[in-house]
Amino acid sequence: MKKKRAVVKEVYTLDDLRNLHDVDPPIRLGVFGDPVEHSLSPRMQNAALRHYKIDMQYARFQISPDELREAINLIRKLEFIGVNLTIPHKISALELLDMADDNVKRIGAVNVIKVEAGKVHGFNTDGRGFARAIREVFSVDLRDLRVMMLGAGGAARAIALQCAKENSERLVIVNRSFEKAQKLAHQLRDFFAGPKVLGPVPRLQAIPVEEAAIRFQIANVDLIVNATPVGLNRGDPSPIAARLLAPHLMVYDTIYSAERTPFVAAAIEAGARATNGLSMLLHQGALAFEIWFQHEAPIEVMRTALR
Ligand code: NAP
Repeated sequence: MKKKRAVVKEVYTLDDLRNLHDVDPPIRLGVFGDPVEHSLSPRMQNAALRHYKIDMQYARFQISPDELREAINLIRKLEFIGVNLTIPHKISALELLDMADDNVKRIGAVNVIKVEAGKVHGFNTDGRGFARAIREVFSVDLRDLRVMMLGAGGAARAIALQCAKENSERLVIVNRSFEKAQKLAHQLRDFFAGPKVLGPVPRLQAIPVEEAAIRFQIANVDLIVNATPVGLNRGDPSPIAARLLAPHLMVYDTIYSAERTPFVAAAIEAGARATNGLSMLLHQGALAFEIWFQHEAPIEVMRTALR
């Protein structure tokens, strides 16, 4: 029989998802987002699929918030292995899941869906992906670090929970809406109940975005993580000015749209070590691959594809 011709599109729509039968190799994985055209996930996931000669492809789907329910119902029926979820679906998808793992319940956000026997299971690999990235980039484990987290949204919550689970020395949460930082700190308080750091500073703190408070904390942290979108848009400032940063710091910007984000540039100017979020993207994607296939991800193949 003549082989079906591949229909290759950069971005598919909900309508394409309704009529996927003529695509070859079949699309059985993807990312749902709005916008989604900039997602780098297809590059690394398709490289991994080709590496293992798995006859399927991973595609981008432009899915708006009001289309998400139908899109998830469709993948239940279409023999999908699973999907990634990105902005703005990570939180709203929670109510559409049949099952959620412990991370998803604690974080309140899902970035990986696996379909099994028509049921959708939710996972969150951002925290573990972040921990692997820190180990790889700075050769240090989270448990040895005093961490300052900028943000209290989905990514920040995943990273903060990972710091808590790995028993980081300290965690300082800084957020524009201070009450959200306080709420997150309150949720994590049991993890930080034990004594660890000698000295006057508490192990777990929420602080407002105020220069004096940030300046004081910077002397008492090792790693600063930007988990806000500040730096994503052209002309954005660094979320913390270079004059407040110091050479002893490690700086991790979860943004990966540029190699030298405003935060990375400010950190380098201050003499600190700094990197963007590409390594977290890689590792959260590798962990997703492992959830879908119960098989080790070809990390170097995926890394090369991202470059
Ligand atoms: P989110 O849930 O919308 O949370 C955004 C957070 O940033 C909130 O705490 C918000 O503060 C804060 N924020 C937003 N705009 C701000 C501004 N102009 N000034 C100060 N704070 C601001 O978003 P998310 O899903 O966590 O994503 C956050 C970032 O993480 C994005 O840039 C995304 O690209 C990145 N990310 C990277 C990876 C990776 O693999 N590298 C994975 C996931 C996410 P309020 O509470 O005050 O609104």
